[in-house]
Amino acid sequence: MSEHAIPYKIYLSEDEMPKAWYNLKADMINKPAPLLYPETQQPVTLEQLSQIFCRELAQQELNDTDAYIPIPQEIADFYKMYRPAPLVRAYCLEKKLQTPAKIYYKFEGNNTSGSHKLNSAIAQAYYAKQQGLKGVTTETGAGQWGTALSMACSYFDLDCKVYMVKVSYEQKPFRREVMRTYGASVTPSPSMDTEVGRMILAEHPGTGGSLGCAISEAVEKATTTEGYRYVLGSVLNQVLLHQSVIGLETKAAMDKYGIKPDIIIGCAGGGSNLGGLIAPFMGEKLRGEQDYRFIAVEPASCPTLTRGVYAYDYCDTGRVCPLSKMYTLGSGFMPAANHAGGLRYHGMNSVLSQLYADGLMEARSVVQTEVFEAAEQFARVEGILPAPESSHAIKVAIDEAMKCKETGKEKTILFGLTGTGYFDLYAYEKFHDGKMTDYIPSDEEIAKSVSTLPEIR
Ligand SMILES: *Cc1c(COP(=O)(O)O)cnc(C)c1O
Repeated sequence: MSEHAIPYKIYLSEDEMPKAWYNLKADMINKPAPLLYPETQQPVTLEQLSQIFCRELAQQELNDTDAYIPIPQEIADFYKMYRPAPLVRAYCLEKKLQTPAKIYYKFEGNNTSGSHKLNSAIAQAYYAKQQGLKGVTTETGAGQWGTALSMACSYFDLDCKVYMVKVSYEQKPFRREVMRTYGASVTPSPSMDTEVGRMILAEHPGTGGSLGCAISEAVEKATTTEGYRYVLGSVLNQVLLHQSVIGLETKAAMDKYGIKPDIIIGCAGGGSNLGGLIAPFMGEKLRGEQDYRFIAVEPASCPTLTRGVYAYDYCDTGRVCPLSKMYTLGSGFMPAANHAGGLRYHGMNSVLSQLYADGLMEARSVVQTEVFEAAEQFARVEGILPAPESSHAIKVAIDEAMKCKETGKEKTILFGLTGTGYFDLYAYEKFHDGKMTDYIPSDEEIAKSVSTLPEIR
């Protein structure tokens, strides 16, 4: 094969785009443990879950058996506005690194929200509309999810109430304006709007808020307002399911050219992009058809997989959501105010947690100054300004490519480039000015937070 037998970008035609999502759980022998209803500590029922989420989404959340779930036509049509996402061969990065490794990345930043989150936002808004709801509530941290959901809700003419972590609300006013452009109402959290918000404010006056706290507010608002349901942008299995479109497209593109990745890398916040990217590849591994190495990359400041415990925990600070068995740092864990905005969640999706516990996936944590070094190196040769979250994956992809250089091995590396960093220029500024610091929580700090895990009878 001549050097460029593989094009710089591999696209799919509309016909080649996935027609069904892939539900990895169906092929798992050790299924993730069920969600528990907080009051009874019994597995949550469809009825209970349907009080919080739309019925169809609650069904998807609990579905352990159907490997493929058809993508409704309206969602497939919306996907065509900004998908397929390109699979890029990073020839320029390979050349710069002088590595024999072949590097590919799947770029999910080609839409206004700037990340992969729109893949699930549009699905969740669709099912809410189908059910005849008036609107949905949600939380947003760094703002990517809130933006994606605002876009999806305006498309289906649904009301959208976003609780935005207060520090981000103040630090990222432009994110807020994008959401308002799409018609969403944006409230800084904690707020006086909800019981749990008022309680948290009374306990911690002047707090900048957290994701867990914004989740509690959004859930309360949804469950106490007629015609509303709550939607979540990560962590849940339904979100992983929708994000499988990333992996399915990637696999179809690679299969077209006979490419097989040796190592697949993704950043991990709540786990949705990583779970989506690896899904069809992990499916092959679980069925014994192929082998791959999978690496989850998390910030050293919020090291859920690498330093957390595998146990039942609350998904939110207010403890109103079902309990999930997952790797967790404790629902009260307050990550240091660092800039890996979207990766600061205390827990991890239960499917990924089980795969990690079973040794089917590796995890690595990286410090943020090194992440930004990798981001800059990547931007300078590949052109795209990466999101800080995505740059965690870039960092480990570069590390692996450099190992190939040392050993002379020609491995094929695939990573997920989840989004763009235009709203993260404050963080880039800190990095360029040499003011960015690395925070690694102490063992005592983690032990203290983990000691508050709920006791399961
Ligand atoms: C939200 C976000 C992430 C992390 O979320 P996951 O659910 O772990 O995928 C990663 N990258 C970007 C750009 C994001 O917006």
